[in-house]
Amino acid sequence: MEFCPKCGSRLVPKKEKTNKKTSLIFACPKCGYKKQALSNKVTPKVAKVMQPNPQKLVAVIGKEEQKLRTLPTVRIECPKCGNNLAYAWQVQTRGADESSTQFFRCTKCGYTFREYS
Ligand SMILES: [Zn+2]
Ligand SMILES: [Zn+2]
Repeated sequence: MEFCPKCGSRLVPKKEKTNKKTSLIFACPKCGYKKQALSNKVTPKVAKVMQPNPQKLVAVIGKEEQKLRTLPTVRIECPKCGNNLAYAWQVQTRGADESSTQFFRCTKCGYTFREYS
């Protein structure tokens, strides 16, 4: 059972048409408060600023890690933990300079560092 956070009245389930979808909502008969039912993922209209979803963030990191796994590893000493194996990839630097920068990421501690030239 749902209660209105504003006035404490019992919320009544209603069907509301938004755009082309019909969604189930809980509406307060007293003050007109509306609450989206079923889906918790749908952010209420009040929310203006998109808050970064920590779960999403983790998923993104997971993807990054997967990408890293496909990268070649090279023997180079990590300046942070002393591990001597790191993932290597190159990043093309923008501008007149044609050379690309070699990046390394320690397989042990995840520290990312550039090649010293
Ligand atoms: Zn209310
Ligand atoms: Zn390291």
